[in-house]
Amino acid sequence: MSKKAKKQRGLTAEERRRYLASGGRRCPFADCGSDDIEGGGLDMDDGGVWQDCECHACGRSWTDDYDLTGVRPGAEEPGLPPKLAELDDSDMDDLVMDAKAQEASDINNGGKEAQAKFLLASGMTVEQIIEQIGD
Ligand SMILES: [Zn+2]
Repeated sequence: MSKKAKKQRGLTAEERRRYLASGGRRCPFADCGSDDIEGGGLDMDDGGVWQDCECHACGRSWTDDYDLTGVRPGAEEPGLPPKLAELDDSDMDDLVMDAKAQEASDINNGGKEAQAKFLLASGMTVEQIIEQIGD
């Protein structure tokens, strides 16, 4: 003795329009309009996001469809990009050496002034530079 559920009627264009204009706070069926409605969890697939809803007053159900309406960045700066975080630090040793060697080469190619400024900025004193270069 199964009770086969009778298919409920659809929504008219006017019912849809009023429901959307009100922000979906009341049963969309014009002959009801109760605010005793409840939405389930949000569902999602490639086609979009939706929520099944029902009215506790008339017992009818409907589905709210959601559209993407905006985007904003996350609150926190990311740490390392995930693909780099997977690497062991020894994996990048040679790259760091090469990058620093290139930097040293650029300084040396900048002449005496670039070299002296770099050494002073790295914390050496004039006396230490002279002493290190030696006799
Ligand atoms: Zn209703």
